[in-house]
Amino acid sequence: MKYISTRGAAPVLNFEEAMLTGLARDGGLYVPEEIPALLPAEIAQLEGLGYEEIAFRVMYPFVGGTFSVDEFRGCIERAYTSFGHAARAPLVQLDQGHFLLELFHGPTLAFKDFAMQLIGQMFQTALGRANERVTIVGATSGDTGSAAIEAFRGLDNVDVFILYPHGRVSEVQRRQMTTPSENNVHALAIDGDFDDCQARLKDMFNDFDFRDGVRLAGVNSINWGRVLAQIVYYFSSAVSLGAPHRGVSFSVPTGNFGDIFAGYIAKRMGLPIERLVVATNQNDILDRCLKGQGYRKGETRPSISPSMDIQVSSNFERALFDAYDRDGNAVSQLMDELKSGGFDVSQGAMQVLQSHFSSGRASEEETSATIGATLRASAELVCPHTAVGIKVADEQREAGTPMITLATAHPAKFPDAVEAATGIRPPLPPRMADLYDKPERVTRLPNDLGALTQHIRDNIRT
Ligand SMILES: *Cc1c(COP(=O)(O)O)cnc(C)c1O
Repeated sequence: MKYISTRGAAPVLNFEEAMLTGLARDGGLYVPEEIPALLPAEIAQLEGLGYEEIAFRVMYPFVGGTFSVDEFRGCIERAYTSFGHAARAPLVQLDQGHFLLELFHGPTLAFKDFAMQLIGQMFQTALGRANERVTIVGATSGDTGSAAIEAFRGLDNVDVFILYPHGRVSEVQRRQMTTPSENNVHALAIDGDFDDCQARLKDMFNDFDFRDGVRLAGVNSINWGRVLAQIVYYFSSAVSLGAPHRGVSFSVPTGNFGDIFAGYIAKRMGLPIERLVVATNQNDILDRCLKGQGYRKGETRPSISPSMDIQVSSNFERALFDAYDRDGNAVSQLMDELKSGGFDVSQGAMQVLQSHFSSGRASEEETSATIGATLRASAELVCPHTAVGIKVADEQREAGTPMITLATAHPAKFPDAVEAATGIRPPLPPRMADLYDKPERVTRLPNDLGALTQHIRDNIRT
């Protein structure tokens, strides 16, 4: 399988190279040259299989050439053993025709563990084989960072630096990043918001001297390996509700568009998905865009669903690339316009996008009210991100098509918002109850490229 850049001017890579590189050298994102299809009969055969087997069948066509069958099966096995639920991604019913896909049983209690744990294993397998090392730098609005640190802590061939916006992540998220004691992991608190962290990360990738000097690798949601791992649970959940014989829809709490883009790939592979519903909080650039109001940055406003406090939604570029008929020049031009505030999507591209994606937003009050209403109606305590998904799903459900809302984090990861909405403070699962007792280790740095690159050069192991 070959991978090409959304801006059309970077080298074509294989899976291993695309995974280790993250951002393409022309500033674009890697996407597969072709989307492999699963036949309806092959999808039907997934019914009743374990999560790991489904994962292997769905993902292997994308990685063949990089990993042997045995290597890849091994990666998948090791990736999900640390999960606290045998089904990995269990489905629970909320209401007639409305289901919750619980993606929070991994080690850091958010769906990002699905991708990050697998990426950790894939990096280790690829680098160990070649006896090479990399420096991973990631930017996080909270959950990616903890998932990355958890996935890479203690690995010989990798140093990890995670940038997070100082004061803007929840205490659980922060502690998950600052308490691991392994000396290859580094939490960096940046004086800025998530978009600043993400912008500095992009700057580092565009500084080729630094990039090559430290052998920079990225595991942010732009990394194709992450999107890949997230395709799996669309298949496992849809099949358990009757796919390929019956269509389903998904409501996806969305920030950087990585999770929902995986759903789009699942659809392109042949999974009968009726609607992919983009659910945003008050930071609603995607909702506005999909309603035809152009893609225009606003101020990021901190919310009770902080992992979606994003204005520039990196993976949306991949959807635009397809909507513009894979014209890298057109995408390049749009991204230039974005630097000065925003762009309008052409009518043709808009039609393509709207044929796959619907959208809606939830205000802070609506999010909070939905947490309360869900507890009363279905006895489920949900995190604020999940509540955004449920609220928008309820607006967009259609009779006859099951709706699956992705439950992206465990309520205990955002206890303040959940307690404010319900009066109940959700406890951490017993396996992580000691999180509040461990010492923290963090470096605070300015929102400045030079300071960051210096700190990283000074702290990598050689
Ligand atoms: C990251 C995250 C999201 C948003 O996912 P994207 O792939 O960035 O759209 C939603 N909810 C939670 C809990 C997250 O951690």
